[in-house]
Amino acid sequence: MPISRRKMLTSGAAAAAAFAPQAATGQAPAVLTGTNVGRRFKAFVRRGTGASVEELRLRAIQPNEVLVRSQASAVCYTIVGGALATTNVAQASIPNHSGMGVVEEVGPLVRRVKKGDRVVVPGTPQCGVCYQCLHGRADWCQFLDTAPAHPLADMADGTPVIEQAGLGGLSELMVVPEEYCCPVFTDLPAEQLTLLGDTVGTGLAAGRDLVQIEPGWNVVIQGAGPVGMGAIQAARLQNAGQVIVIEPIRSRREVAMKVGGTIALDPNAEGNGLVAKIRTLCKATTDRRYAGGRLGTNAVPDGADFVINAVGSDWFPPKVEAGPDPTALVPLQESFDMTRAGGHIVMLGVAWRGNVSFNAAQFSNRGRTFYSGQQGGLNMLRDIPRYVKMIERGVIDMKSMVTATYPIERTREAIQAVGDRTTLGAVITFA
Ligand SMILES: [Zn+2]
Ligand SMILES: [Zn+2]
Repeated sequence: MPISRRKMLTSGAAAAAAFAPQAATGQAPAVLTGTNVGRRFKAFVRRGTGASVEELRLRAIQPNEVLVRSQASAVCYTIVGGALATTNVAQASIPNHSGMGVVEEVGPLVRRVKKGDRVVVPGTPQCGVCYQCLHGRADWCQFLDTAPAHPLADMADGTPVIEQAGLGGLSELMVVPEEYCCPVFTDLPAEQLTLLGDTVGTGLAAGRDLVQIEPGWNVVIQGAGPVGMGAIQAARLQNAGQVIVIEPIRSRREVAMKVGGTIALDPNAEGNGLVAKIRTLCKATTDRRYAGGRLGTNAVPDGADFVINAVGSDWFPPKVEAGPDPTALVPLQESFDMTRAGGHIVMLGVAWRGNVSFNAAQFSNRGRTFYSGQQGGLNMLRDIPRYVKMIERGVIDMKSMVTATYPIERTREAIQAVGDRTTLGAVITFA
């Protein structure tokens, strides 16, 4: 029996429920199409004191939701601690917070995507009508705070399972509100596209879309994980004068140089001399660089024009070269110290613990401009489609960002590799 969209909007979920009397108990009224309810699928589930690949049974989707058959989901370093922990969790959940795939079903209120669309599902929604979306900060879309966190499926023993952050990812099926979907019209490999929804997309946005790197600028990228790699590529695309990369892991320094770095420094080797080294590099070959060579070094303080901090604190010690500070607070202090007065600093780290301090006079009238952003200021509906075009043209190198793919059965191994930092971009791919 058809129901008009207007009727659905005015009477809300109750109207939907009226046409879905067989909805499972214990959840919000749902729309049942009869085709996908009860569908069995595999997902990596964190439950009790463990985590394992389980077969789940899908529940009905809500009127504003989209059912996505996953093609790929990149493991994010930020989930490693939680996904591999052995503390007892009361609620079973599918970890991660991004993915991509093909739309298989949409609720009657969905407008943004259609069945058959390929979609990137980023970690941040974009509703377009909240206060933050209307103020140019879609990356802080407030839909994030109101997104439902109801179970999408049940385990064989009846245990309900939710998706971490409302979307999960390490699963053959995702159920998300349409606000989380960005349609992409391309044949690019799924393992490359999914990185646009989280790490690499965040780095790309940080150098282009939150505040723009100007051509010729001295840019420093702290940390060449997947986020930093996106930032390095953004700096290259903006024709930065120098792209100075700071990264303790040798293999990552090598990739960094391949995708846009002009010099890659090992912070362990530089030690306490790191900031001085950056200042020297930014001074270039003459003390009379400023004002067309008319003035000496004291005219403008030395330092980078633009610093992107993409250093994360360690969940546990890496199995490769460890950085000088597992808390990542030292690199944050250095962000300020290596930036010229009036320069720009974009913060991409998450879950900091502790404080840093700045010289008050420096902070005041010789300050730097700080930007912080969820996903580097990514405006996903605007930015992801254009990143797709740039990958197709070969100006963004996504192939080098994917260093390992795993089937869902080997999800734990993938998470461990990301935690150990033995691989750069680990992606779960689905048949
Ligand atoms: Zn992430
Ligand atoms: Zn919004």
